[in-house]
Order: sequence, then structure tokens, then C-alpha cells
Amino acid sequence: MLVVGLTGGIGSGKTAVSDRFALFGIPIIDTDLIARELVEPGQPALAEIAAEFGADCLDDQGRLDRGRLRKSVFVDDAGRRKLEGILHPRIRAVARDRIAALSAPYCLLVIPLLVETGMTDLVDRVLVVDAPEAEQIRRVMARDQVEEAQARRILASQARRDQRLALADNVLENSGDLAKLELPIAELHQHYLCLAATQSL
Ligand code: ATP
Repeated sequence: MLVVGLTGGIGSGKTAVSDRFALFGIPIIDTDLIARELVEPGQPALAEIAAEFGADCLDDQGRLDRGRLRKSVFVDDAGRRKLEGILHPRIRAVARDRIAALSAPYCLLVIPLLVETGMTDLVDRVLVVDAPEAEQIRRVMARDQVEEAQARRILASQARRDQRLALADNVLENSGDLAKLELPIAELHQHYLCLAATQSL
């Protein structure tokens, strides 16, 4: 199956875009959701995280306390790499299994941190949702009720726009009205259907 990787910075509009592809019946697999499922209570990854970073990372109910985990993990690069070592192979395995179970001409695999995680091998094509940084900041502040400084910090922690664009086979410009996405998405949908048909020959 043709796998289209959808990526973009925070607030660029990945969900707005994937919702529109879903209207065409295209299955969407989101690696952020997979990552969250993997740290549900009872999951082996959560036990590994607690063993590595301490039981302090769990709250009273045994659920992951992300704030505390962040404090233990992001003190240095080694902590981040350890956490990635626990999560990334599992995210890949689950994504591959879910893709293998699908029956559709193509699917969208949403990988917000595609550049940062190097998961490009999971996808055949890369679609980048792009928006001006000022617009990303404005949207994140409005949606998440955070201060501008916080929105800027998150943006600064992600890959740069030019790094994402360098990986793109296609770019969806999401700087205007949401309705303006409809035509380019319909065109991309046709494009991917053609690619999928060629690939299956
Ligand atoms: P995240 O990386 O945080 O998951 P995202 O890339 O999935 O974000 P969305 O959640 O789709 O981004 O969009 C962020 C916010 O901006 C949402 O509240 C969404 O409704 C709004 N938004 C997205 N695109 C537009 C647009 N073109 N015009 C106005 N608002 C938009």
C-alpha cells in the first residue's frame, strides 16, 4: 500500500488536513496517538519508562505523569535518546502492523516529528503542511490557551521549516482560509490514487 507521511510543525494544520483526507475514506494512522496508547497503564513501554526514569514518572493511579517525565528525561540528550529507544521501535512496529491490516488504495501516516525521528523509511511520499511561523504561534496560543513565549519555545524545539520542506514531495500551504485547502487536497487525493494504481501494477 502507498503510505503518505503527513508532517508539519505545531499548529500548521495537520489535523485540519487529515480530517479532509478522511472525508475521502482514506485511513489515517497517527503516530502521536500510537505513542499515547503505548504508555497506557499495563503497557510494557510504561514499565520500561518507570524502570529507566523512576517510579516518580507515574501518578497515584499508575498513569504516566508527563510533566514529571519531562523533568527526568530532558535534562540531557542521553535521557531523550533512552526514551526514544523505548518508544520509537514500538511506534514503528505498531504503525507497520496497522498499515498491513488496511485495505485501501493509500493511507496517511501522520508523523508530526518526521524530521526529528527520521521515520522517513515508513513512508513512500512526504506531504508537508506549511504555515508561516507567526500564524502557527497565533493558532497554538488560541487553541491551547498558552502565552506567546510558550508557543515560541515549542516551535523552537521542533525541526526548522526548511528542514521539513527539504523532505517534502508535496507541500500544502495552509496560510489562508481553511476552505482554501479543499481544492489542493482533492487534487492531491487524485495524485495519490494515480500513484497507488501505478505502484500496484
Ligand atoms: P498539532 O501539531 O499541535 O497537533 P496541527 O498541525 O494538527 O497541530 P491543527 O490542530 O490542525 O494543527 O490546527 C491548529 C489550530 O489552528 C486548530 O485550532 C485549527 O482549527 C486552527 N487552524 C488550522 N488551520 C487553520 C486555518 N487555515 N485558518 C484558521 N485556523 C486554522
